[in-house]
Amino acid sequence: MRFRVQRATNRQKRVQLSLVILLLVSLFFFTIPAKATESDGNSAQVQEGQDLFQKLKTGKRPQNEKTYETPEQPTVYLTFDDGPSKLTSQVLDILDKENVKATFFALGEQAQAHPALVKRIVQDGHTLGNHSYNHVYKELYSDFQTFWDQIQRSEDIFASLADTRPQLVRAPGGTYTNFDAYYYYLMDQAGYIVTDWNVDSGDSKRVHVPVNEIWQTIKGAPLEHEINILFHDGSGHESTVEVLPQVISYYKKLGYAFAPLTSQVKPKQFPVGKSKWSRNMSLAHFQELMKETQQYALAHIQADQDQKDAEQHLANQTIVAREETAQILSAQAALPLQVHVVGGSSFTIEPSAYQLRANRIELPLRLLIEKIGGQVEWQDDKKTANAHFGVYDLEYDLSTRSIRLYTLGNSVATYSLADMNFKDGKIIVPLRKTIDLLGGRITDTVIDSNKREVSVALRPYYIFKENNSLQKNSLFAMGG
Ligand SMILES: [Zn+2]
Repeated sequence: MRFRVQRATNRQKRVQLSLVILLLVSLFFFTIPAKATESDGNSAQVQEGQDLFQKLKTGKRPQNEKTYETPEQPTVYLTFDDGPSKLTSQVLDILDKENVKATFFALGEQAQAHPALVKRIVQDGHTLGNHSYNHVYKELYSDFQTFWDQIQRSEDIFASLADTRPQLVRAPGGTYTNFDAYYYYLMDQAGYIVTDWNVDSGDSKRVHVPVNEIWQTIKGAPLEHEINILFHDGSGHESTVEVLPQVISYYKKLGYAFAPLTSQVKPKQFPVGKSKWSRNMSLAHFQELMKETQQYALAHIQADQDQKDAEQHLANQTIVAREETAQILSAQAALPLQVHVVGGSSFTIEPSAYQLRANRIELPLRLLIEKIGGQVEWQDDKKTANAHFGVYDLEYDLSTRSIRLYTLGNSVATYSLADMNFKDGKIIVPLRKTIDLLGGRITDTVIDSNKREVSVALRPYYIFKENNSLQKNSLFAMGG
């Protein structure tokens, strides 16, 4: 009995031992893989950060899909940099008289000197943008940290003066050769929208540019669907003030509306060029800045929402300016429309195939795309039309009245297009806006009582030739 008890105890011990071993083994199998996964996650994250760092180093910007609204009417965004100054009140008076809203990229230093003008810019319904604190290139482009500090310093000044934290930023001198991919990326992380321009009035080429020179520059500029014009309201720009009324009247006559820039407007951005500044970004510094900018964005989410509400309010105030003679023209006798493709062929669109609404030419999507050498596929089930042209794919969605733009197969942006129509089984689209979306532009338009002519420059590296083939076009580099 004693013996048996002893044996039973031994057996129990063995069972206990086996259980412990089993437990240990299972712990090993459960915990090791879990630990391994965790460390994989960390190293994957680290790897991702390094990959991003390396990618940005080569000047490539990561794809960033955002949704913008394309205005129905051709629109001019007047922008004034380097103020406010003594001249700003004159600019504001002209804008007020013309019932036009604009955007002022102000300097923090100037804002401190003219606080009342900063308040008036905002009160009058214009957009206040950030143009750094002191505009000193050497400081701003020596290191992102300095740039970022100046943006925040000015922002605090604007917040205290006019209770607004501008989301829009314009880089002094423009981004080209000043910004690298790190600058762009970090500004993006912090939630800012950096915008350059597509028309330079030339009012800052040198000191005291004559009125007529600015006027000729404006008249010679291409008429894109959305025009962002660079002007200056800093001291010494009396010519800008003088030329402004005739510039506004010129675009009004062409059927353009005027609007302040908002976060809904697709920003004009120059491509990343070779930096003219020698900067060294280390991985550690980049990671530090990334953390800082992301934290800033988190802290200002609520402020951004308020800003958006204010912008919505502004957008509602946007003045729609239509020229009356344009409406009269649309009622005139039908004429064929001549289309000249710069560096390519010309073709004619019969009067029955297009229409004029205000000063806007509208025509069937398929006709336009095929004439310039692309293709259109209609997907009846989805009620979408896909237009292929060069590196671009446009997906027209009738049900949502939106356009999705793809470049080389990557979705890059979605636009709403309220003026898309469906007529006699055809999608009717505005000519200028569609050409813009395809990376081209209208360089010249003649619409009068006996002639209708449009010149189109196509920029997706391909141009339509007589023999129907797509040929590489080196005429248009990806310049600003
Ligand atoms: Zn400037």
